[in-house]
Amino acid sequence: MSSYQTLTELLAKGLLPIHLGPVFQQALAPNPAAHLPDRIAGMLLGLAIGDALGNTSEGMLPQERRQAHGEITDYLPNRYAQDQPVGLPSDDTQLAFWTLECLLADGGLDPDHVARAFTSNGKIHGMGGSVREFLRNYKDRGRPWYEAGAESAGNGALMRIAPVVIPHLRNGGTGLWTDAACGAAITHRDSMSIASCIAFCGLLADLMRLDEPPPPAWWVERFVELAGPLETARYSPRGGAYADFNGTISELITALIPAALRDDLSALEACDRWYSGAHLLETVPSVLYILARHGHDPEQAIVRAVNDTKDNDTIAAIVGAAVGALHGQAALPARWLAGLSGRTRVRAGDEGRVQELVAAASREGGWQ
Ligand SMILES: [Mg+2]
Repeated sequence: MSSYQTLTELLAKGLLPIHLGPVFQQALAPNPAAHLPDRIAGMLLGLAIGDALGNTSEGMLPQERRQAHGEITDYLPNRYAQDQPVGLPSDDTQLAFWTLECLLADGGLDPDHVARAFTSNGKIHGMGGSVREFLRNYKDRGRPWYEAGAESAGNGALMRIAPVVIPHLRNGGTGLWTDAACGAAITHRDSMSIASCIAFCGLLADLMRLDEPPPPAWWVERFVELAGPLETARYSPRGGAYADFNGTISELITALIPAALRDDLSALEACDRWYSGAHLLETVPSVLYILARHGHDPEQAIVRAVNDTKDNDTIAAIVGAAVGALHGQAALPARWLAGLSGRTRVRAGDEGRVQELVAAASREGGWQ
């Protein structure tokens, strides 16, 4: 069964909380560029690097983190590596690269295989409550993949979705959108999460064909163009300067980000204004603002995400995927590439697995 059939059946049964917007009929153009393998590698490694730079100080407020560590610009000593300063994975890298492993094995997205991998590959480091709920629903309660995801607008699907774009890049087509929707829904059956994952996948595919950074306004405009028509639910922030807001993620970022850019807020000031935790109403504006301000400079974009946000490993993983897709592996700092352990298991065991999968995914640039 094609992903599109799966998607339309799930929508008909009311199991996917999004509108079947026009994007599902819009074919992505093929990307014949010679630089595509470098961009794919950059996206994947940027994700793993952002996670690894952030996960040793995840959840701290930026001010507390700065007091404890100063400005973080490299991997911190890690207790899972004899306190050596190497880059180790948390849930963001683990779930993204286990998805990639399935994509390579199956030649495309098989959501049930991905769900099985998530529940059987071993301990997931630092996962949130929604992924835990998915694991219980799928593994313990025996629910099918399309009914196991949590009804949650946390950032746990957005952080791991990037690899699903890869099979669609070289040849284009409409499959990207359905794979993004189904891939997202595995762990999070939520309108804002699914719409955000589809929009982010569209951004990644766009970034891989750009020869220079897009203008600052592009990030929000393109995200809203893709996500807006899909959203079915309204949300309210948990606090911050926009506690009275009630609406979709597209409405929120349209209200927040152009104004913050006009006010020339630093990433720290802006993310403090709307908070930068694991809820998508905080994560998405933080990601897009950092990209709008610093997307032309991959190192600075990732450093700002790591230092200036609260859920910093996930925000840096998402920012890292985007700047990696735009600039390629060759533009990522050599010290970060060299210091990345490449584990997908937190405790020792599969060092170098990330780099192996990156090489395979880039080679498979011509995925049929
Ligand atoms: Mg994490």
